[in-house]
Amino acid sequence: MIYYKEITETVREPFIILDKDLRVVTANLSFYTKFKVIKKDTEGKRIYDLGNSQWDAPELRLLLENILPTHRVLNNYAVTHVFPTLGRKTILLNARQVDSKQLILLAMEDVTERWKLKFDSDELTENLIKQRDQLQGLNDAKDEFISLASHQLRTPATAVKQYVGMLQMGYAGQLTKDQLDMLGVAYRNNERQLEIIEDLLRVAKVDAGKVYLDKTFCDVTIQIEKAIKGQAILFKNREQTVVFNKPKAKMIASIDPKLMLMVLENVLDNAGKYSKAGKHITIDIRQDKSHTIVTIQDHGVGIRKKDLQKLFKKFSRIDNPLSASAKGTGLGLYWAKKILDLHQGTINVTSKANVGSNFEISTPTNAGA
Ligand code: ADP
Repeated sequence: MIYYKEITETVREPFIILDKDLRVVTANLSFYTKFKVIKKDTEGKRIYDLGNSQWDAPELRLLLENILPTHRVLNNYAVTHVFPTLGRKTILLNARQVDSKQLILLAMEDVTERWKLKFDSDELTENLIKQRDQLQGLNDAKDEFISLASHQLRTPATAVKQYVGMLQMGYAGQLTKDQLDMLGVAYRNNERQLEIIEDLLRVAKVDAGKVYLDKTFCDVTIQIEKAIKGQAILFKNREQTVVFNKPKAKMIASIDPKLMLMVLENVLDNAGKYSKAGKHITIDIRQDKSHTIVTIQDHGVGIRKKDLQKLFKKFSRIDNPLSASAKGTGLGLYWAKKILDLHQGTINVTSKANVGSNFEISTPTNAGA
């Protein structure tokens, strides 16, 4: 008996040993403390008679009298019971018959708080999942709205472009200089409107997962040259120069040429837009073992460190000395990053305010075409 007593005393959870008549042979200190009973009123008493019969619970009777005799061992049997001294508690019982069924070891772990915490955190998780789904739903609805609205706007805006163009060409008679000037303003603003609509539609499409790459092995230097040529007038107007350090060798990579051209145009356009007149932009291309890397470096207004993380987010226009005059939607880099993600490539930037920025576009060279 001493032996059992020593064991029970070393166990931190409440623990009792019962004889075959369910009388307490011994209990450990933790049992006395936890259930607020004393040794004199415990040892030799039937478990059901302990502490104002607080253990006289139907679940415990079922466990000790029916389940345990057949199974001999019971693990983690939870009993929720209102104890007169402790209130409502959930106790995890672990019981074992020993010594040819002469004794029963019964450990009681109060899991009320732990289970409550778990229940609360499960409930919290469930609520968070619900909220996330609701937000996702709202986000999808917003994307759909933007896409629908942009589609609806495109047709009338295109019609305005055609009719303004016809007026400018004299289809409705000769116009005065003032009239032509005004139409010129209308035309440019309408073009801007169409650009915004196109940006919105492009982003809506990529967000909806409806952009599919049409990859082929092609020379990326050609795409760079096309991008430069396409914007030559813009650079000329700003007296900016673009220097492309074209390598002798071809830079063949597996890309979607149209989409990659648009990415390059976007980054190059930004380099010009966010640089003052007269500045130059340098483009380099190289290949390492696995990737084709294009860098576009400008000497423009640069980006403050704290703004760098916003750069590739949707609708993020970062305030800088040229952002008021340089038109934009804050969608270009977001879209470009999505296109690079589809290529399993990356777009990264290093920049310093008032010094300039360096954009690095990297794509796997041999990704399955
Ligand atoms: P936007 O249509 O406004 O140009 P982008 O997504 O292309 O949208 O760029 C987001 C923001 O990042 C811009 O508003 C600008 O503040 C900043 N940015 C992009 N490229 C550069 C650059 N080369 N130099 C400085 N700022 C840049």
